[in-house]
Amino acid sequence: MTPRIFCVANQKGGVGKTTTTVNLAAGLAQIGRRVLVVDLDPQGNATMGSGIDKRALALTVYDVLLESASIAEARQRSPQGGYDVLGANRELAGAEVELVELERRERRLRSALEAVRADYDIVLVDCPPSLSLLTLNGLCAAHGVVVPMQCEYFALEGLSDLVNTIKQVHANLNPELKIIGLLRVMFDPRITLQQQVSEQLKAHFGDKVFDTVIPRNVRLAEAPSYGQPGVTFDPQSKGAQAFVAFAREMVGRLA
Ligand code: ADP
Ligand code: MG
Repeated sequence: MTPRIFCVANQKGGVGKTTTTVNLAAGLAQIGRRVLVVDLDPQGNATMGSGIDKRALALTVYDVLLESASIAEARQRSPQGGYDVLGANRELAGAEVELVELERRERRLRSALEAVRADYDIVLVDCPPSLSLLTLNGLCAAHGVVVPMQCEYFALEGLSDLVNTIKQVHANLNPELKIIGLLRVMFDPRITLQQQVSEQLKAHFGDKVFDTVIPRNVRLAEAPSYGQPGVTFDPQSKGAQAFVAFAREMVGRLA
């Protein structure tokens, strides 16, 4: 068995990538999947939000990208989340510059994942808010991209850059890559504009839009400060339940 590898990507910041990554991971773990989260953002939010202190890490994804450590050496267990994490911290910001000089610079993550392929069913890569060499490492390694988006007026604008990048990676580096789906997040059904944009998305992208909708829910926003995903922090909350439903939808789509 080889794991399915997914990037959670959107070059905008604050759209819900990290929240999606850690909660989808926890939801998948809850339904029995073996999951690895790769934090590819120097901000290290997925690391912290999984209950791992980024400042205390001896080895991170940075060491893996520079091939001075393996994933098996660098991974940590999320204490509450039920999944493994290849963590990141500020050190990763330097990788961008250091990698440029190196061979196979966009394939480092892909190669490193080979060695742990027997350990996981699903790998989720939390991408930084840019279409950088780090994101490129994620896209090169992945089978698919999950795009979280808020149903706001400018949501579709940023999407075309991401779609073009995915097309280029598909054509030049990774023929397996495709968009798995668009996930509507932080959704507030009382806001008419959000309903309208949501309908536009469905009209435009059809079944590329996931059925599950993630509501705006304060428990999801509070959970990171307790070092765990919302799914485990408050399982009864609307946000947690939506992410478990999303995990089931993802697994259903893979079948
Ligand atoms: P990104 O990784 O794309 O920068 P985050 O996942 O960090 O985005 O989300 C940005 C902010 O929005 C965070 O403060 C997060 O807690 C909050 N947030 C994300 N999703 C939700 C949601 N469904 N309901 C409420 N707050 C959310
Ligand atoms: Mg993030």
